[in-house]
Amino acid sequence: MAKTSNKEKLDRVFSQYIRLRDMIGNSRTFQCISCGKIKPINQADCGHYINRQHMATRFSEMNCNAQCRSCNRFDEGNMQGYRRNLVWKHGENKVLLLESQKYETRKYTEFEYKALIEHYKKEVKMLLQEKGLEIKCLSQ
Ligand SMILES: [Zn+2]
Repeated sequence: MAKTSNKEKLDRVFSQYIRLRDMIGNSRTFQCISCGKIKPINQADCGHYINRQHMATRFSEMNCNAQCRSCNRFDEGNMQGYRRNLVWKHGENKVLLLESQKYETRKYTEFEYKALIEHYKKEVKMLLQEKGLEIKCLSQ
């Protein structure tokens, strides 16, 4: 089996962080960034507004939000709804700034990956403690 890269490890812990951040209290539910529906947290994906192939925004906390599976996987992200709610959360200017980062070149060093992995591991641990939950409340 291929060794898990630091990029993949960061994807995983970052996605856990985003979903726990967006959980409503400790209710094990979340509101989908695109369609606004309240759903169980084990049905949450970490949905990228700007596609994750773009490295400059791949690990942006603003660019990533809990999203329901039907929007993320079957409705190509439901982008109109996603943008509308991002503007509602952050304002038009910040969304435009985020969009302008799309084609920036961003390369992460292994050192940065490791530091970010450690950072988000701690955040996840804190959120789980705060909410009195275990990581298994999330899906893979
Ligand atoms: Zn949705």
